[in-house]
Amino acid sequence: MRIVRFSDGGSPLYGALEDDSARIVGLKGDPLFSPVEPSGRLFDLEEVRLLSPVIPRSKIVGIGKNYAEHAREMGGEPPTEPVVFLKPNTSVIGPDDPIVLPEWSGEVHHEAELAIVIKTLAKDVPLERVDEVILGWTCANDVTARDRQRADGQWTRAKGFDTSCPIGPWITVDPRLDVDDLQVTCRVDGRLRQDDRTSSMLMSPRQLVSYVSSIFTLLPGDVIITGTPAGVGPIEAGQRVDVEVEGIGVLSNPVVRR
Ligand code: MG
Repeated sequence: MRIVRFSDGGSPLYGALEDDSARIVGLKGDPLFSPVEPSGRLFDLEEVRLLSPVIPRSKIVGIGKNYAEHAREMGGEPPTEPVVFLKPNTSVIGPDDPIVLPEWSGEVHHEAELAIVIKTLAKDVPLERVDEVILGWTCANDVTARDRQRADGQWTRAKGFDTSCPIGPWITVDPRLDVDDLQVTCRVDGRLRQDDRTSSMLMSPRQLVSYVSSIFTLLPGDVIITGTPAGVGPIEAGQRVDVEVEGIGVLSNPVVRR
């Protein structure tokens, strides 16, 4: 099943998108906070606008340098423990929403990532119980002002500005999804920029949930983005960025400068 958040012209609605189907079964409320119950309304995927499938109530936890080749392209050896940072929930946008390049940066990069959506309050979760706290999986683009990341000394502005966290297109809830071996790619205007598999991660997705929960209390709707493969590079106004995670889908966003 895939959980979608969408608009048919009015307030955001939630729905369940069946596998291999374009039919959305409307849900009564936010499936994170109320029982999954059909609203009795059906929608056609083609006739609604998909929104970010989740707006984190508290935080997006970012993981830096979780693929060895990316750590090397950033000019260092892979860390023994992953770098942890936060992106504010105001950085989140949905499918097809524009990534707005900030006027204070001249070098903004794409970072294609697998994202984990947390289902329940979670603290100090042992690895063998991690699946109990995960709602599902989606795609994210950890858009980064690389010049400011280098110059600022910490990453808040570089990775936290408005529109720097596209998430979507939906939350895939599927116990058969082998998240330890999924292809993660980024295309800019159709040209392949990043291409690796989650099997190359230094810390696996489930290990990350356990690790992150030892640092922060995770709340329902919090998102962990799991790091990006090698091949990061600049995006320019007028381009379109597609992040694809195998078995989940494609998250596509235009890039603009205002
Ligand atoms: Mg990243």
